[in-house]
Amino acid sequence: MLICRTIAEIKDFVRTARGAGQTVGLVPTMGYFHAGHLALMEEAGKTCDVVVVSLYVNPMQFGPREDLAQYPRDFERDCAMAREAGVDAIFVPTDEEMYPQGFATYVEVTGLTDRLCGQSRPGHFRGVATVVTKLLNIVTPDRAFFGRKDAQQALVIQRLVKDLNMDQEVVILPTVREEDGLAMSSRNVYLTAEQRRDALVLYRSLRAFRETVQRGERDAGKLRGMIYDLIAAVPGARPDYVEVLGLPELQPIEILQGGVIAAVAVRFGNTRLIDNVIMEV
Ligand code: AMP
Repeated sequence: MLICRTIAEIKDFVRTARGAGQTVGLVPTMGYFHAGHLALMEEAGKTCDVVVVSLYVNPMQFGPREDLAQYPRDFERDCAMAREAGVDAIFVPTDEEMYPQGFATYVEVTGLTDRLCGQSRPGHFRGVATVVTKLLNIVTPDRAFFGRKDAQQALVIQRLVKDLNMDQEVVILPTVREEDGLAMSSRNVYLTAEQRRDALVLYRSLRAFRETVQRGERDAGKLRGMIYDLIAAVPGARPDYVEVLGLPELQPIEILQGGVIAAVAVRFGNTRLIDNVIMEV
């Protein structure tokens, strides 16, 4: 596995692969790999000749009081896992490489970013959209792979690729969970044993949402209230948002019909976790 620290190096690698007629898959990440990342890498390997993983903790998508400095990092471990997953090249740029002196261009997806994480993390999706646009322009993959765990992010990226007429196929893969249902996340390492147990309420409340919809409930307000109450009943859990919205625009709804998403963000101590379920009603 090639380790590329500069844009010139990764461009050179991709140019050579293309020259040999190979298709290229890109998996953008912030590292500290878990089975969710590996599932994206494996799918990329199945559908593309060459797999590139980017590992970059993008400061632009963190707010001033967020966990940028604490974000978990272990480059040696990540390299071993990526190599094991069959990744061909890992792109690990520095901040100077990504945002050199004078950098002044930003990508902003409007509308979709008004709610959920866009509301509770101002500027977050501007950072995500800008870095993903840069990564897609640098690597120019045939396909780029993202996880459904970050459902709003996936919608934002699909939107920007369409709006900016980019050629990439955006592939969204299902959320990978621990055996007990907790969505895999690099941030799970922050949790104490007690918080780790409390955090199970995310998936428990979303499963209750799914089952209640399956039994025929269609009132978005009632369903939202049910999820909220289940979360608020856990003393260590502080809900940031609980929303039931329509897809594909994340539009507010009163009655569930067509594509819907239940999305939650909950704090356990200083750790903020997100999860969601998507249904077709
Ligand atoms: P991150 O390193 O957290 O920025 O995530 C990199 C990519 O992996 C993003 O597309 C995430 O949506 C995806 N991802 C993170 N956690 C999971 C998970 N539990 N299941 C599936 N994909 C995930």
